[in-house]
Amino acid sequence: ELYNKVLELKGNIRVFCRCRPLNSEEIAAGASMAIDFESAKDGELTVISNGAPKKTFKFDAVFGPQAEQSDVFQDTAPFATSVLDGFNVCIFAYGQTGTGKTFTMEGTKEARGVNFRTLEELFRIINERKKFCRYEISVSALEVYNEQIRDLLVSGSQQGTMTKRLEVRQVGEGMHHVPGLVEAHVNNMNEVWEVLQTGSNARAVGSTNANEHSSRSHCLHCVMVKGENLLNGECTKSKLWLVDLAGSERVAKTDVLGERLKETQNINRSLSALGDVISALATKSPHIPFRNSKLTHLLQDSLGGDAKTLMFVQISPNENDLGETLCSLNFASRVR
Ligand code: ADP
Ligand code: MG
Repeated sequence: ELYNKVLELKGNIRVFCRCRPLNSEEIAAGASMAIDFESAKDGELTVISNGAPKKTFKFDAVFGPQAEQSDVFQDTAPFATSVLDGFNVCIFAYGQTGTGKTFTMEGTKEARGVNFRTLEELFRIINERKKFCRYEISVSALEVYNEQIRDLLVSGSQQGTMTKRLEVRQVGEGMHHVPGLVEAHVNNMNEVWEVLQTGSNARAVGSTNANEHSSRSHCLHCVMVKGENLLNGECTKSKLWLVDLAGSERVAKTDVLGERLKETQNINRSLSALGDVISALATKSPHIPFRNSKLTHLLQDSLGGDAKTLMFVQISPNENDLGETLCSLNFASRVR
């Protein structure tokens, strides 16, 4: 009976909810679905608890377990056009570990995700506009772990010799920059793929458990676009952030010692800072607390103002995950 309208298309923030399918282990264990997509209309989903509907949420789009990467991208593609039109854009995936954040953003070779498809779309449009526009594209890949920025395009050995810490600096009105961060110039999809692979590989190095590390750090790609209109000489500069966030799950009570505690506090801090920024933007608050975390500081130019934001709330259909699922859906509701 509770009805949560997540978005009234206020401002430039869009929220898409994506639910992964039950995996084979869950099916073998006889897990039941806690999400009903059938009875709800377009853009709605209903959470079921103990066989009864508990709460309905509304989003700009809902992608159920059967949705393909191409279905998801169909609704994401307009953001690529916006970047080439000179808007800053931020696309990020939020949710509990194992709900498909990396699947949505990175995807796999067989099922490419938003990152690859967005760049492909950029190059497609650039080609379409080549008679009257010229564009230059470069890409950065970085990770934020324990409130520290790591350049994923710098090899491990070089990294050790880097003395200066990477920090966010303001370089002009509404312009933030990370001095020293590698910006790889890319001319085509082969070069993009190489950069994305380099970043992806760098992420795995230096961590004993790659999966665990990726669930505890934020992985970001920044696509910088310089455009020149050949008819009137007008120039644009814009950037697109593609973000695979750290897992949003609350930590187990047994896990709160030493390094783990610090990690968890940093994750909680950055994810709640992100929530605070987005809800401050949605309610048009005069003060937007961008400086409360590295993550929001980095994304500052692409959140709010003219920028367009797309959040994927990733959820599990498994009834056992219902607690975390409700947390994620409620996080998304703060955006209204
Ligand atoms: P996260 O990054 O949120 O921790 P992953 O993207 O690693 O989650 O997804 C966990 C597992 O579920 C992976 O094996 C992934 O391939 C699979 N998966 C996630 N979403 C989907 C989907 N929509 N369709 C099929 N498999 C999916
Ligand atoms: Mg992941």
